[in-house]
Amino acid sequence: MDNRPYPIFLYATDRLIPRVDVHDPQFPSLKSQRNSTFYGYQGELRADKYLRRMKLPEGAIVLHDLTINILGTDRVQIDTVILTKSVAYILEIKNIYGKLELMNQPARLKRTTGDGKVRIFDSPIIQLEHAIDALTYWLFMHDIQMPVKGAVFLASRNVEPLFPGGLPIHLVTELPSVLRKELSMPSTISAQTVEWIASALRRQEDTFHPYPVAEYFDIIHANIYTNSLCSDCFGLLLTETNRTGTCLKCGKRQWIPFIENLVDYFLIFGQSINNVECQEYLEVSRSKSTDLLSHPYFISFGRSNAVRYKLNFSMLRFNVDGKLLLPPFD
Ligand SMILES: [Zn+2]
Repeated sequence: MDNRPYPIFLYATDRLIPRVDVHDPQFPSLKSQRNSTFYGYQGELRADKYLRRMKLPEGAIVLHDLTINILGTDRVQIDTVILTKSVAYILEIKNIYGKLELMNQPARLKRTTGDGKVRIFDSPIIQLEHAIDALTYWLFMHDIQMPVKGAVFLASRNVEPLFPGGLPIHLVTELPSVLRKELSMPSTISAQTVEWIASALRRQEDTFHPYPVAEYFDIIHANIYTNSLCSDCFGLLLTETNRTGTCLKCGKRQWIPFIENLVDYFLIFGQSINNVECQEYLEVSRSKSTDLLSHPYFISFGRSNAVRYKLNFSMLRFNVDGKLLLPPFD
């Protein structure tokens, strides 16, 4: 089972939030999209924990965060799919707390919290059906016959589901017992085919690419703080020299985290940068800028007299706390 990658969108929004005034008209939308990504990711991690504890059938492959693009329809996001020789089993994980009820016509999910507040979400049953349909169609187009099934798993510890019986909705704690039953059917395809499906699905490109996020959230560049953030707490860094600074939030004195700040440029402000723009953005010399841009997180393109750099998104690695790791990796 692969480790679930840390969501880049969560990192990008966590780097943008401290740089934006809380009174900015776009701040509520930024904060709410950040939070839903955060809670979704936490729910998926909780499901992964149960998945790791159980023994999956031999040759089973677990894939995370897939996007299936099918002509004529929207892209369909699949959080987790377990591929075995008998079935492709989709886990739709929902980390929503409170009292949950399904509404019909239109199908929605209604959540009521302890203080009586109501919020409406998309129906997880409909999302599950879309995912099953998309994967069924994708397999059909690749001439593979195997059943696609799945269920919704509720990952919050403080959830009170009020659903009619017979629906494929379970608590995440039930994951092992549900899977033991659902994955124990006779094989229909070979182990090689399972591997082929896994590698082909991994190659499906994610078309969700909301970078730079300042544009995605429609926040004016002039209203975004561009100096470095603290390498520990993402607080604003008060720079003392061109090499060191002190965090205004946690007080830590540190080397200026230039690479993190340069990665932020591509996540937040612009798709590409040249050496001169980089010198201005980071307030560094030409030689320092050249040195930073040669880091493996960045790729150069264009002719020698007009070289520009962009971010190598697929290289980005984070630890579980959402800190950017700096290559070389061991
Ligand atoms: Zn700090």
